[in-house]
Amino acid sequence: MQEYHQEMDEQDPLHAQRESFYFPQHEGKDVLYFCGNSLGLQPKGVLPLLEQEVMDWRRYAVEGHFHAKNPWFSYHSIVTESLARIVGALPSEVVAMQTLTANLHLAMVSFYRPTQQRYKIVMEAGAFPSDQYAIESQARFHGFDPDDAIIEIKPRDGEYIIHHEDIIETIQQHADTIALVMFSGVQYLSGQRFRMKEICEATHAAGAICGLDLAHAVGNVELHLHDWNIDFAVWCTYKYLNSGPGGIGGLFIHESHANATELPRFAGWWGYDEESRFLMKKGFIPSYGASGWQLSNAQIFQIACLRASLDIFDEVDLKTLFAKRDALTAYAEKRLVALKRDMPHLPIEIITPTNAEDRGAQLSLLVHEQGKTVIDKLIADGIVVDWREPNIIRMTPAPLYTRFADVYAFTERFKAHCMTLFRD
Ligand SMILES: *Cc1c(COP(=O)(O)O)cnc(C)c1O
Repeated sequence: MQEYHQEMDEQDPLHAQRESFYFPQHEGKDVLYFCGNSLGLQPKGVLPLLEQEVMDWRRYAVEGHFHAKNPWFSYHSIVTESLARIVGALPSEVVAMQTLTANLHLAMVSFYRPTQQRYKIVMEAGAFPSDQYAIESQARFHGFDPDDAIIEIKPRDGEYIIHHEDIIETIQQHADTIALVMFSGVQYLSGQRFRMKEICEATHAAGAICGLDLAHAVGNVELHLHDWNIDFAVWCTYKYLNSGPGGIGGLFIHESHANATELPRFAGWWGYDEESRFLMKKGFIPSYGASGWQLSNAQIFQIACLRASLDIFDEVDLKTLFAKRDALTAYAEKRLVALKRDMPHLPIEIITPTNAEDRGAQLSLLVHEQGKTVIDKLIADGIVVDWREPNIIRMTPAPLYTRFADVYAFTERFKAHCMTLFRD
């Protein structure tokens, strides 16, 4: 009789995509990689696409802007359609540029427009540090005290997940003073997926702007930024989108702001109206849509790496990808819950929501004792998960390249280590 994981791997419509990635090696075998939420694996297409650009640079030098196989003049646009599909946007609403934190600042310059009346920013407590620093420094830049201007929503006492009602109630309570609601799509530490559409509706009802940080959401969960009327969103592409360390960032600006030339922005020449950019005239005229927020000419090598990953995404129906995500994550959860049932004294609990709609591919395990030892043992076994101080293990079965057999092997090894470490 076949076991569940064998059966699922045999039926997996995405089994071919796994072959498109390189896995780090451990004792001659592929590691079990559960860190796609932090840095995705390298697509095999990266080197050929990079080589194309390196060789075109060698062959054409400056002429490559127009005569390279993919002319560099418009190179940023070779990822636009693929990204637009993944985030649920019109192509004109999306641009690949800069990095996440830089894009967050650039978007806030345009969309955080505080007045003495309306200047507060609502966000989740414990957001990724870069977001905290960006938001805090933006408040200060406008002359506000971050302690007064920033409203953080926390989990209730003794809990790890933020109640959706608490988010909505906070927005309603402060409706008159809020300028911006800035949330992550998926919380980096707990793995909680926020109800972005409902948060945006409440934000607009309060008369404020809604921004999202999609670092852990893009390529991981369903996104319909256009239909949800999100005002702006930013993301990085090196997590679930596998573009490599320091990969190019993403920016979404809703169509309703595409022509908002009155908005303040920190402008650069690549955001200038494309038709007349090279007339090099005085006086900034932004191009239509998200591309009007660009600063500099395209980061060719970074975008080439992202293109290689998007070639794989383009082959995949997103519904199929997300269905596999839910099945893999539920399988991991089920086996961990069973372990906890067998070992009730195990000082470990899963803090990620159980409901598939409230999470993506990641499970976060709170380890009350010896967490670092557990991690070290797993890593010595060729199992890559990550550790976030003071006590969280994150394990992410990214559906593009993870097999059910990998989850099975992970939980078996995890159990073996727990049995030796936590004998009572
Ligand atoms: C990964 C991540 C970042 C990283 O920001 P960079 O500007 O790409 O270094 C920022 N915010 C969140 C929420 C993240 O998960």
